[in-house]
This record gives sequence, C-alpha cells and structure tokens, in this order.
Amino acid sequence: MKNILFNELDPHFKDEVAEKIGLEAIKPCFTCGSCTGICPVHEVIEDFDPRQIIYMILLGRRKDVLSSDLIWFCCLCNACFFVCPQEIKFSRVATELRKMAVAEGHVEAGFLDRLEVVKPYLQDLCRRTIFSKVKDGFCGPHTKPCWRKNTDENLKPETG
Ligand code: SF4
Ligand code: SF4
Repeated sequence: MKNILFNELDPHFKDEVAEKIGLEAIKPCFTCGSCTGICPVHEVIEDFDPRQIIYMILLGRRKDVLSSDLIWFCCLCNACFFVCPQEIKFSRVATELRKMAVAEGHVEAGFLDRLEVVKPYLQDLCRRTIFSKVKDGFCGPHTKPCWRKNTDENLKPETG
C-alpha cells in the first residue's frame, strides 16, 4: 500500500472541486459504496471505484487523483447518481477532475488520443449493462433514471 505523506495532502482540494461543480456536492459523501455497486465500469475494471475517488478527494490527495488514469474511465452514464443517497453526481465530479488534470499538467502527451480508442467500448459497456439492470427492475431510490422511459414497463398503456 502506498504511504501517504501528510504534507502531500491538500485540505482545500475538496472545496475546490465542490466549488467548480457549483454545489457542496462531494462533502456529504459517507462512503456507503452504492455508486461503486451500480457502476458498469467497475464491473469490468475493478480499480475504477467512484467511492474511492471521492474519498481520496475528501482526504486531499490531489496529485494522486489528478494524475490517475482512472478519472478518465467514467463513461458519464449517471447510474451512480440515481442510487446515491446524498445525490452526488459523480459524472460532474469526473468532468471537473479531468479539466483540472489537463490544466495542471497531469495528462501526458498522446494520452487523450489513446483514450479515444477505449471510449466507444466503455460507452457501449455502460449502455448495455444499465439497460440490462433496468430490465431486471433496477430503479434508483430518489428519482427514476432517465433511461427508464425506454423500458417496456413505461411503454405499457395507462389503465383506469
Ligand atoms: S453512493 Fe453517494 S454517498 Fe455513497 S459512496 Fe457513492 S457518492 Fe458517497
Ligand atoms: S457515471 Fe456511470 S461510469 Fe461514471 S462512476 Fe457513475 S456509474 Fe460509474
């Protein structure tokens, strides 16, 4: 396990990320893991773990987060948002982390081009996995996923 040096931590990192997405949206995370449990990318890339990334932000591990390839693997499907009891939208967090990673020089030349090759695979994976979860009856606790409107259940004619 990597040792964490106290002087490498940035206590303002979480405030900065929260401010960029216009919300206090990261701080209330209580690491329940629901996001990781539903995440289609986590199903195939075990190291990609939205709960852990948020935890690292809360700890202030700025360099570790911004220099990690993992922040680029989120396919922005929003499945985690629909199960998060704190209504944290990881897709927005990931988008801001990526901008910060580029702005602060953590992205090596050619990386984004190489990522283009993987992106369609991740997006297709997310679409297929979420579609099958919704068909199996998945529905978030606080709101219905937008993709639910395309399932058979919502296409049933209204009665009464
Ligand atoms: S589901 Fe929400 S509260 Fe739970 S770990 Fe993920 S971001 Fe945090
Ligand atoms: S937006 Fe989708 S891919 Fe990204 S962390 Fe949430 S569930 Fe995983």
